[in-house]
Amino acid sequence: AKAAGGGRWTWFDPIMDQIADHDAQLAADLRQAINRDELFLLYQPIVELPHGRLAGVEALVRWRHPEHGLVSPAEFIPLAERNGYIVELGRWVLEQAVHQASRWERGLGADAPAKISVNVSARQLGEPGFPSEVAALLSAAGLDPARLTIEVTETAVLSTGVALDAVRALAALGLTIALDDFGTGQSSLSLLVDCPVSWLKVDKSFVDGVTLDSPQAVIVDSLIGITEGLRMQAVAEGVETAEQAERLHRAGYRFAQGYHFARPMTDTDVELQIAAQFDR
Ligand code: C2E
Ligand code: CA
Ligand code: CA
Ligand code: CA
Repeated sequence: AKAAGGGRWTWFDPIMDQIADHDAQLAADLRQAINRDELFLLYQPIVELPHGRLAGVEALVRWRHPEHGLVSPAEFIPLAERNGYIVELGRWVLEQAVHQASRWERGLGADAPAKISVNVSARQLGEPGFPSEVAALLSAAGLDPARLTIEVTETAVLSTGVALDAVRALAALGLTIALDDFGTGQSSLSLLVDCPVSWLKVDKSFVDGVTLDSPQAVIVDSLIGITEGLRMQAVAEGVETAEQAERLHRAGYRFAQGYHFARPMTDTDVELQIAAQFDR
């Protein structure tokens, strides 16, 4: 505690001070991370049920900090969103992912992952030139827009009118739009009416309860009716057990993602997985 003027005591926790310092330092380090080659992407398979054949991959960014080692995106993405650096970081991620997808297409042909998903934050969607930037990137890399999926959260799409327009423009370019973490944000079913969404990624918090007699299981089941009726695809996130996978398949889920099938992996490991799948 520090003494404030007038003899009152205000609580100024030294631990809180340290956390603020740590965040400020981490934010400063993050600004250097691209130039210092500390960022890289892992790819987590999205598979088809029940057999687990590769349907696509989701690009997930990683940061190898020179002192702290691997820092979780759950820590540095929110930091980058707060200070606006997410725009530059997100541009880097998108570039890497698009180049990787076109390398796979050239190297693997028909065996290449059909789709690559990239997470895009509210700030990126709110940048006025974002859709044309994506279009330019795709045409420079010679990648079919149908191969790129943009993952957005309900909260991001609903954040500004610009964001909603951006999603519409990206869909018009032929990209696939996925609503990420579905059910956890400021959900509004009207978003499914106003916005050209083709994938619904059902959040892990619902999938966790799917094998139990739980409200989550009821929601997981009823989302299939919505996605089928609206000609969307449902993807179950965070599937960790065979029981969950089996239960989801019975409920009508065609796509899933989670540690039960595969963890996020390097581009080389994706290639090895594909080679094993096609038995070559
Ligand atoms: P997300 O988009 O919901 O990604 C899924 C997260 O769940 C990933 O965590 C993934 O590793 C993890 N996961 C997948 N399957 C399982 C499972 O079976 N069990 C458990 N416990 N976890 C599973 P990760 O890679 O740590 O990323 C965390 C979040 O950071 C992502 O959540 C996403 O919101 C954000 N993020 C990651 N990369 C990027 C990026 O390039 N740009 C933006 N804007 N956000 C990103
Ligand atoms: Ca995601
Ligand atoms: Ca998610
Ligand atoms: Ca999540």
